[in-house]
Amino acid sequence: MWHVAAWRAVPTMAHGFLGRAESPPNGRWADAVEAAGHPGPLVLPRQVHGTTVARVAAPGDVGDADAVVASSGDVVVGVVTADCVPILLRTRNGAGVAAVHAGWRGAAAGVVERAVEVLCGVAATTPAEIEAAIGPAVGPCCYRVGPEVRETFQRRTGETTALAWTRDGDRYRLDLRTAVTLLLAGAGVRTIATVGPCTSCSLELHSYRRDAVAAGRQLSFIGLR
Ligand SMILES: [Zn+2]
Repeated sequence: MWHVAAWRAVPTMAHGFLGRAESPPNGRWADAVEAAGHPGPLVLPRQVHGTTVARVAAPGDVGDADAVVASSGDVVVGVVTADCVPILLRTRNGAGVAAVHAGWRGAAAGVVERAVEVLCGVAATTPAEIEAAIGPAVGPCCYRVGPEVRETFQRRTGETTALAWTRDGDRYRLDLRTAVTLLLAGAGVRTIATVGPCTSCSLELHSYRRDAVAAGRQLSFIGLR
């Protein structure tokens, strides 16, 4: 499991990016969260690579969404990933947290900025008062994409993510975590940490690109308490 060291010192919050060892193959994520230090209850969205952000106030089904925002300790929110980017957000005023699932489609479509916007509304704060943590995801070492992927980003965000792309023949190597960092910065978030290795390189993590249909998923969670 990976943590942001500074966040572990915040007594009113628990968070973690679980690895393969802590992620149960049976999908019993609530047990994994409890073992990692939060009693739950855990709320997970049905991830669809879109831009819907669900506000969660009570346990239950939140439907299709790729980000979940909570403003009390009644729930802990999370996302599950295999190569996509898990992002955890907290506000310095302690009034809200969010978990975001960002694959290239969701990131290109705007789920990251939308989550920042909704969290600011829920917690009555500004992006400059949000802290972000980016967990393990596929790195540029293992992620080549076609030019249409870059064009999809460019259509919405211009050159905001330019530093995340390296030409590789007629394709690109995409550093998706750098792209997410640049999108967060573009939305006004100034404090951004990245933890953990490339999922495809590290056998401590599940990777869809490495293991294909046999790949499991790992949970990233955050909750107030
Ligand atoms: Zn790699």
